[in-house]
Amino acid sequence: MVNLKHDVLIIGAGLSGLRAAIEIVDTHDVAIVTKVHSLRSHSVAAQGGINAAMSAEDSWESHAFDTVKGSDYLADQDVVEVLTKNAPSVVIENELWGTAFSRTEDGKIAQRPFGGAAYPRTCYASDRTGHNLLHTTFEQAMRKGVKFYDEWFVTSLVRAEDRIMGVTALEIATGKVIGIAAKAVILATGGFGRVYGRSTNALINTGDGCGLALRAGVPLKDMEFIQFHPTGLKGSNILITEGARGEGGHLLNSKGERFMKEYAPEKMELAPRDIVARAIQTEINEGRGFDGGYVHLDLIHLGAAKIKERLPGIREISIDFAGVDPIEEPIPVVPTQHYSMGGVDCDKNGTTPLKGLFAVGETACMSVHGANRLGGNSLLETLVFGSIVGKNASEYAANAEDPDANAVDNATFAMREKIQAILMNESGELGAELRELMGTTMDDDVGVFRDPERMEGALKVIKMIQERFENVSIPRSDDRFNYALVRTLELENMLQLAYAITAGAIWREECRGAHWRIDHPKRNDDRFLKHTLTTLIDGEMKISTQDVNLGQFEVKERTY
Ligand SMILES: Cc1cc2nc3c(=O)[nH]c(=O)nc-3n(C[C@H](O)[C@H](O)[C@H](O)COP(=O)(O)OP(=O)(O)OC[C@H]3O[C@@H](n4cnc5c(N)ncnc54)[C@H](O)[C@@H]3O)c2cc1C
Repeated sequence: MVNLKHDVLIIGAGLSGLRAAIEIVDTHDVAIVTKVHSLRSHSVAAQGGINAAMSAEDSWESHAFDTVKGSDYLADQDVVEVLTKNAPSVVIENELWGTAFSRTEDGKIAQRPFGGAAYPRTCYASDRTGHNLLHTTFEQAMRKGVKFYDEWFVTSLVRAEDRIMGVTALEIATGKVIGIAAKAVILATGGFGRVYGRSTNALINTGDGCGLALRAGVPLKDMEFIQFHPTGLKGSNILITEGARGEGGHLLNSKGERFMKEYAPEKMELAPRDIVARAIQTEINEGRGFDGGYVHLDLIHLGAAKIKERLPGIREISIDFAGVDPIEEPIPVVPTQHYSMGGVDCDKNGTTPLKGLFAVGETACMSVHGANRLGGNSLLETLVFGSIVGKNASEYAANAEDPDANAVDNATFAMREKIQAILMNESGELGAELRELMGTTMDDDVGVFRDPERMEGALKVIKMIQERFENVSIPRSDDRFNYALVRTLELENMLQLAYAITAGAIWREECRGAHWRIDHPKRNDDRFLKHTLTTLIDGEMKISTQDVNLGQFEVKERTY
């Protein structure tokens, strides 16, 4: 009954999925399944830029040190080395493919300072870097003839005999559930910001890849490390890029003070994101924010010409969504969920504990960002490791046996039944309500500052929502374009991730990077210089640990 089959199947058409496909297409039959058209993937929204030590004064070692220190020493140093050594070549590759990078007067690729970096090493295309990179990478995938299943939603990974056999997917336009057999599967499904109510992420960032992996018995790593970006636009939570501070923007409290001098006297506004986000939240909590809970990001002194040239998107967003023109007025900002440092457990080749399953990009945890990602390192991760994981999956597929078609058929039947049961349930719980409750719980109780009692409460609420989810129903039962069904399947994934994030955050009794416990206000290397692994065993989430790969940079106190 299986009618679709590929050597390598990639789930996700953002930068990491596309870059992997380009690596594979010349030697293997590869296809990408994606729930939205490639160019609507969240990579398109990246603003500020991509890091690479391009100039003679900079070096990969300096980039690696900044990344490891930024990670609060939790990043695996061997992975960081691969990231930073390969950075200049992927930037140049994309430039040759046509990415319109901003330029210096003498024609070189322009670089701006970013948080936690010793050197201005963030290459950018105005404030629309992701848009540029995604378009050029997509063009290359098209040129090379990569096959796409656009608007197909992957619902499960098929596993048998301890290896991957393929996936089941919902064709959104028809409502059909279809099995796709594959020797190798690459998860490239992006982040899970929408587990939180307030996030800079696209609505599609629901962490499906992590949910799929978890249910296939693959552990998730370091899920408690959630990045809160210091400057989400007050009200809409749209991102105001770190590039705005890189270009010289100031953060001011309601007394007009540049408060960062109290928190990071050297780096000021360009301290890493975890530190700036906590500083802003502290100002707000201690009454030095503005009414309604926010601070100001002031760009006025940069002047109209610089704002129009370097930050045109930011100006447009501020005018359209906050009624504020940054040429004349400061922008109201507040810390907002932004990035998922954790993800599917894998090594620097994207290899997961399940044979034939690979992971790359924001959905993966290799771990290159440790407890706190530096801005500009994520676009870099997608391209550097997209190519490496693509190569690795090709090599695996070249020697792998054909997948077991029966296993894929059985999984497809089971998925059809599961979906049918949801569609036929006429009077159950409404997914939208459950989703909102999950979002506010995570915002309120598993945020920038974490209190164990509140997190225990959050865990109970999440469990209760999961129980209610068992009886979920959706307002329409049609097969075609049933987005209510897609949102419901996403919610199932998000609830599992909400649980994993909270359970990990309760377990980790220390402060490290983005994870701040008010009852344990210090880093504790003796107990917690370790990755957290969360595995679903017989329906229960179990936590275990994995050693951190240390290396040339000695673990030290982190000051800026
Ligand atoms: C507003 C914003 C600005 C950012 N700016 C920067 C920046 O300046 N610099 C930087 O380094 N990083 C930045 N980041 C982070 C960076 O953009 C992302 O981490 C990165 O682009 C993720 O790429 P990806 O390929 O892993 O996933 P994505 O680009 O998110 O793509 C995920 C893909 O998976 C598919 N998918 C998901 N679930 C399923 C499913 N169930 N079935 C089928 N397909 C599925 C989607 O359709 C999509 O194609 C920013 C992030 C945001 C939100």
